[in-house]
Amino acid sequence: MKFNRIVLALSAAALALTGCGSADTGSSDGRLSIATSFYPLEYATQQVGGDHVDVTNLTQPGAEPHDLELTPKQILQTTKADALVYLSGFQPSVDDAAKEGDGTAFDVSPFARLDLKPADEQDHGGEEEDHAGHDHGSVDPHFWLDPTRYADVVDAIADHLATIDPTNAADYRANATAFTGKLGTLDKDLKAGLSDCRSTDLVTAHAAFGYFADRYGFHQESVSGLSPGAEPSPTALADLIALVKRDKITTVYAETLVPADVAKTLARDSGATVAVLDPIEGLTDASAGSDYLEVMRSNLATVRKGQGCR
Ligand SMILES: [Zn+2]
Repeated sequence: MKFNRIVLALSAAALALTGCGSADTGSSDGRLSIATSFYPLEYATQQVGGDHVDVTNLTQPGAEPHDLELTPKQILQTTKADALVYLSGFQPSVDDAAKEGDGTAFDVSPFARLDLKPADEQDHGGEEEDHAGHDHGSVDPHFWLDPTRYADVVDAIADHLATIDPTNAADYRANATAFTGKLGTLDKDLKAGLSDCRSTDLVTAHAAFGYFADRYGFHQESVSGLSPGAEPSPTALADLIALVKRDKITTVYAETLVPADVAKTLARDSGATVAVLDPIEGLTDASAGSDYLEVMRSNLATVRKGQGCR
């Protein structure tokens, strides 16, 4: 394999120039090795890359991605990959790893139209003591629950793969077109299925459904904030219970990857029932489908029932 030897020699030369220690960059079978930071980016990269890519997801199945801590082995993996596909401002540990690689990190946030602020900054007036002290995390990262924003990111991933692997550019673009076509159909079905609902107040566990609510005409009230770990204050919980009773909301939503304790308390004290609405931050055996498209269709059925849509 003369070609491989030349590539290896070139890689070794490049590594010698940059002072890196290891020679086994990328995958050995000619496929691109891509690290992705959490499930929606893993799935999008697999759909776009097809057989040309070997995707490693940094967030393990069943783990909640917000508070991912990378192991030293994973950090090495990200720096050795041909690309690290990630969303800046979502997982601090991945943001740090992205700075380590030699320009291989690809941040999808410029393509995701992250133009929503967290709902709790607008709503719960009692707790905004640090107006000046908001950190960079105060923009809603959950773009993938709006299929049109997700489609824009899919196209951006295709463009990036085409740039680093021009030989297969046509395949990446064709795969992206096929996948965004499915996302377009999903968007139409969501619009049609959610256009006429008895209740437009969506009471979610953490505030993952901002872009979803914005696109399909709901108002999101979340039990915790943008990150699932945050416990609501007793006042905030009491406010939510009052809201659920006043607006006769029949369903509050819990998630697959975080305990449903607070949602259960809220339901018990307000007379509502609990249903599972999946923010698709990661899949588990408990997920209502085997991929993003299936779980989104399950979410559509759940919301139609919970919100009384005709
Ligand atoms: Zn989230």
